[in-house]
Amino acid sequence: MYRYFGELLSRSAGSALASGCVDSALPASSSLMRVRRYADAANQPDDPNFFRMVEGFFDRGAAIVEDKLVEDLKTRESPEQKRNRVRGILRIIKPCNHVLSVSFPIKRDNGEWEVVEGYRAQHSQHRTPCKGGIRYSTDVSVDEVKALASLMTYKCAVVDVPFGGAKAGVKINPKNYSDNELEKITRRFTIELAKKGFIGPGIDVPAPDMSTGEREMSWIADTYANTIAHTDINAHACVTGKPISQGGIHGRISATGRGVFHGIENFINEASYMSMLGLTPGFHDKTFVIQGFGNVGLHSMRYLHRFGAKCVGIGEIDGAIYNPDGIDPKQLEDYKLQHGTIVGFPGAKPYEGNILEADCHILIPAAGEKQLTRNNAPKIKAKIIAEGANGPTTPGADKIFLENNVMVIPDMYLNAGGVTVSYFEWLKNLNHVSYGRLTFKYERDSNYHLLMSVQESLERKFGKQGGPIPIVPTADFQARVAGASEKDIVHSGLAYTMERSARACETETK
Ligand code: NAD
Repeated sequence: MYRYFGELLSRSAGSALASGCVDSALPASSSLMRVRRYADAANQPDDPNFFRMVEGFFDRGAAIVEDKLVEDLKTRESPEQKRNRVRGILRIIKPCNHVLSVSFPIKRDNGEWEVVEGYRAQHSQHRTPCKGGIRYSTDVSVDEVKALASLMTYKCAVVDVPFGGAKAGVKINPKNYSDNELEKITRRFTIELAKKGFIGPGIDVPAPDMSTGEREMSWIADTYANTIAHTDINAHACVTGKPISQGGIHGRISATGRGVFHGIENFINEASYMSMLGLTPGFHDKTFVIQGFGNVGLHSMRYLHRFGAKCVGIGEIDGAIYNPDGIDPKQLEDYKLQHGTIVGFPGAKPYEGNILEADCHILIPAAGEKQLTRNNAPKIKAKIIAEGANGPTTPGADKIFLENNVMVIPDMYLNAGGVTVSYFEWLKNLNHVSYGRLTFKYERDSNYHLLMSVQESLERKFGKQGGPIPIVPTADFQARVAGASEKDIVHSGLAYTMERSARACETETK
């Protein structure tokens, strides 16, 4: 049910809310006034409350899915009782179950004291633990973490990962703090979560999000494992996205970007979808633009580039660059590491104007929420919007994309690669063994036995007069003959998950 529901939520994302927001504000009496109000609305900034926006997506999805859920219910109840039950369940799903708000002091390197605010929202415990990232940003608010936590529930359902949704935010600009101060903030925030039962391998498992990564996750794991959970053998499963040396998994850093690539792949290779957009299938003749050159943006760019698409533009917080002949991801990554910005990159020109509106086939917002609004949606030239970020499209923009025949591949499917590989990491931590370790040698020996038995069979049948018949494995088989490494298993598990979810949604909505 959840998967079906999630797809419907995403497919219909926004249009109901958009019409709800605008229409309900209009008096029915005057069509002239109606026209004027619509024109006025287009000039207003499109900045809906994020939590209300996600609730609006939910309401629209719930309205579409209700009849089907009643029909599918296999109970002996009357149709009316069934409908009441379905409505009750939908009502239970919608709100955030728990929200924790904390503030704590830290002593800064210069001796001053500062009070830091942080939040963790747990949207649903229908599956445990809860799962969702921790972001560091001055934009963090209770509403934002609640909205992101509920998106996490639907995202986990879409990719069939057995977690409830959660999200945390610490209201700081990490650029204003030293490494020492960031470590203090992260460890203290972990303690605050632990004291209130908001972290633990079976309760709630955070992960990286904006401005957090392996380093912060290892501070969290270390703090938790050495305090409240010092007797818990599974303590390191309290957080995912850790470095390998702390129980992390190969492929987690790039997982969200790799998932974005697979998600786009599952649509772009379908001739029927592409013909609806007036495009040909495949990556090779496609250009793309990315907003946000962080974790998700960089790795999405790497994989799309590797499979033949051309990156023509990148937008960052301090400027944008454009090159119609293509931008090389490795060169740009090196430049950013060296200079701390993409601005001034010699392989492209500065882009004047809004990079979201630049010429391209695929636009990948991979920064913050509400970037594509009613105001800029009519100017977007891309035919495919691939939502790498969470909640980048407002309902108003989504409605315009539908009208303009622009395909939106929704966040709750497209960026689910991160939580999928986090799930693999969590399982690895609970199993206390890395993937492939038990079967590695057995698989390699079996593959050699297979080759030998083919050779012997051929020689038995055709004789060995001309010498032994060599069995030469293909390059692909040779690469696999030694058995699957953890990275191979993670990559194939992720690709399978993204494909299975895309196909399941397609079948269930036909
Ligand atoms: P990040 O902090 O690594 O990167 C974000 C980048 O966007 C930064 O370089 C920042 O400077 C840039 N940015 C911020 N505001 C911008 C703006 N207005 N215009 C242009 N650039 C801007 O964060 P991330 O982990 O890549 O996350 C990006 C988005 O993807 C977020 O919405 C996050 O919730 C979502 N997401 C992340 C993961 C993950 O595994 N990291 C998983 C799922 C979804």
